[in-house]
Amino acid sequence: MNTADTAQHEGSNAFAQPGEQGSKAAELELRHVSKRYAGQREPAIGGLSFTVPAGDVCVLVGPSGSGKTTAMRLINRMIPISGGDILLGGRSVLQRDARELRREIGYVIQQIGLFPHQTIAENIATVPKLLGWPKQRIAARVSELLSLIGLDAEGIGERYPAQLSGGQRQRVGVARALAADPPLMLMDEPFGAIDPINRARLQDEFLALQEKVRKTIVFVTHDIDEAIKMGDRIAILREGGELAQYDTPREILTHPADDFVAQFVGADRGIKRLSLTTLGEMKLLEPNGTKPGALRAGAKTSVRDALSMIITADGAPLTVVDENDRVKGLLTLSLIEQLLADEAAEGRHDADGAVAVTGADDSSGEAAT
Ligand code: ADP
Ligand code: MG
Repeated sequence: MNTADTAQHEGSNAFAQPGEQGSKAAELELRHVSKRYAGQREPAIGGLSFTVPAGDVCVLVGPSGSGKTTAMRLINRMIPISGGDILLGGRSVLQRDARELRREIGYVIQQIGLFPHQTIAENIATVPKLLGWPKQRIAARVSELLSLIGLDAEGIGERYPAQLSGGQRQRVGVARALAADPPLMLMDEPFGAIDPINRARLQDEFLALQEKVRKTIVFVTHDIDEAIKMGDRIAILREGGELAQYDTPREILTHPADDFVAQFVGADRGIKRLSLTTLGEMKLLEPNGTKPGALRAGAKTSVRDALSMIITADGAPLTVVDENDRVKGLLTLSLIEQLLADEAAEGRHDADGAVAVTGADDSSGEAAT
């Protein structure tokens, strides 16, 4: 095992440091977007429409070759569009100067793209430099971002990418993309090359960071579990860049639009749904003086993980504790059953009143906002 990439070497909660962040975010709308590569018989994307509200994370998920990367490259105009339109903040990206546009869109991909012969600080400063920011402002922004991603320890800014772990490099990639405070971030399988432990940690940290920066984010993955964890909304693509469903994770898990989606989310979608609820949101049994047992978990633990713990302990109830290890209540298998029954009774409407949009045809912007 490569110890350079293990958790101990990563700072704790690295994305969640306090920072002065702007609050720029813009709505993104794809309108009947299509892309046909030269020499390709079928379009890579045919008539894709969906809207991402400002400040939301939209996860694009789908099998390999379903056009996820193509969609990202169309949005920041790295490749020309064949048909349709893309609006950022209500304005067509096609009317923009492509280079100027790209400076307004943070782009993170796996394995890249840090410049190996530039220091971490220089890498992060790339776009601010292109924008001609004064030196002092760039230096201030770089140190702010290093602290935001938890890499502000002495000397890290002067290191080269090869001198960091994979997880640290990925954080630097995120910092570089955030440098000029872009209203939109595109992230193409950003954590795909990271080992599972650090990957889960990067996901958590990224969600904490997003709480602060509230960017509009399009996040690509082929991993449905990552999509469920990261997305406010999930756009599921099938072969040919066709939208199979665009919905909240809960709706997709509760009401998959068709067999393709049902298969994609997996036969265990009922269990996956339990990952959307935390113990803090559950009805619990009164502790009645119970001391925290060996089987305990905090309020932020998902019901899915709690169920797994209970099963591993042959069905013993789990003690839910607060930050000070005080017992808040007990979770039993029958309370989890109750949750599933309540959710089934709730029907199609999300607790937060979000409008459910399903199907490829009626999923354009208006209905989703
Ligand atoms: P994903 O990111 O979902 O795996 P891509 O967007 O990379 O999918 O690819 C979508 C389809 O377009 C695939 O069939 C792929 O082979 C094709 N494709 C991607 N890039 C090119 C290209 N530069 N030229 C021709 N075909 C391409
Ligand atoms: Mg791809």
